[in-house]
Amino acid sequence: MAYKELDMTISKEAQAMQKEAKSFAMNVLRPAGIELDKFPDPSDVIAEGSILWDTFKKYREMEYHLSGFPEELGGAGDIEPIASILINEELAYGDVGLAISLGVSGMPFSLAAKMPDPELQELARNYCEDKEGKLIGCWCMMEPEHGSDWILSAQPGFDDPEKVGVPSVKAVKKGDEYILNGQKAAWVSNGTIATHGVVHLNLDPSLGMRGDGLAIVPLGLPGISRGKPLNKIGQRPLNQGEIFFDDVKLPEKYMIAPDASLGTLMKDLTLIGANTSMGILFTGVAQAAFDEALDYAKNRIQGGKPIFDHQSVRLRLFEMFKMVESTRALSRRAALYNMTNNDPLNNLFPSGAHGMALKVVATETAFKVASEAIQIFGGIGLTKEYIIEKIFRDARLSMIEDGENNVLSLVGASHL
Ligand SMILES: Cc1cc2nc3c(=O)[nH]c(=O)nc-3n(C[C@H](O)[C@H](O)[C@H](O)COP(=O)(O)OP(=O)(O)OC[C@H]3O[C@@H](n4cnc5c(N)ncnc54)[C@H](O)[C@@H]3O)c2cc1C
Repeated sequence: MAYKELDMTISKEAQAMQKEAKSFAMNVLRPAGIELDKFPDPSDVIAEGSILWDTFKKYREMEYHLSGFPEELGGAGDIEPIASILINEELAYGDVGLAISLGVSGMPFSLAAKMPDPELQELARNYCEDKEGKLIGCWCMMEPEHGSDWILSAQPGFDDPEKVGVPSVKAVKKGDEYILNGQKAAWVSNGTIATHGVVHLNLDPSLGMRGDGLAIVPLGLPGISRGKPLNKIGQRPLNQGEIFFDDVKLPEKYMIAPDASLGTLMKDLTLIGANTSMGILFTGVAQAAFDEALDYAKNRIQGGKPIFDHQSVRLRLFEMFKMVESTRALSRRAALYNMTNNDPLNNLFPSGAHGMALKVVATETAFKVASEAIQIFGGIGLTKEYIIEKIFRDARLSMIEDGENNVLSLVGASHL
């Protein structure tokens, strides 16, 4: 990223990690993302021999997947929060769809690492050891009938099944197992390739959308099937698809939030965490769009000089620069706070209002800056000649991803 770093407190180690991530992003993620984006059929993204699998391997070889996992399980322990922020800005700068796919692939295993059960600990250890990309995780919240309902479900009024309905995926306890039935939406990232999912599921239908628990589900269990990879306008390297549960027998130990109050708390915290991550990633995307526009403006000649020398283009670029820099300022501040204050057992809670504000601001900035960048490119910005049209498409999805921005703003307001 060609930006001027204003934070003079960043350690040498964090700077070195950022440099390495930048090289990985530009040499591995960027070319792979461009190649995968071109497949008209999203099934080809996940086909045998696809560069996607090579990307997973390279990411694991770089040991990015170990961040936050305890050293006893083979993890890297907690790395400095600012290093993690810098790495993720860079990965998204390279290709945000891949950055999301690679990042979410660790989610069930990082939850497993926090559980005392020896088998769950072993699962987390296996993930840390997996350099091939054989273990892949996903986060399963949304359902065909319930999208924003899930995002709003911790709000008052979402405990009335008559008004808001009940989640589709239900878990009914029978002996030492839960029987799972229902369907998760085609939006689940890594949905058709994941081996394990973090699944929000209904435990108590009388509580409507608030009656849910949370489970880590091995997705190879009998009764689980998948839909077709989703065909969408952007973030095409990110695999997405439905997951169906038909009388699935889930051993009790996998139900990590076995009651609705814990389930609601974990849902709330998961959402804040996801939104904070999205804010970091789309700060990187906004920077990528800005850099493309600046570079083009300095090279494209019209009126006998680079278009950068035309005042209206300069003004437009400076507007974009202001948006990116103010977004980065919020992103670093809110993300540092939320990553540091994320230990509910010790009464440390992230800030929901700041997490939601960050996600909304960063995704809107990424989209607006990418759109303005296309204006600067002129006609050619609308073609496949330059990456800017892809960045624009990728950014467009983000304003709905992990919560539509207006709905997230309603949730954010509830934290005020
Ligand atoms: C790229 C991408 C990746 C995603 N990854 C995942 C994932 O990994 N896991 C997962 O579970 N989901 C994922 N999602 C799903 C995403 O969280 C949902 O698409 C989002 O929450 C919106 O839900 P919906 O699409 O059903 O829209 P709806 O909920 O149907 O909303 C449609 C419109 O109605 C408005 N609306 C709905 N309800 C209300 C209300 N009560 N008050 C005011 N306005 C309302 C919304 O603001 C929106 O404009 C992903 C989505 C995208 C785009």
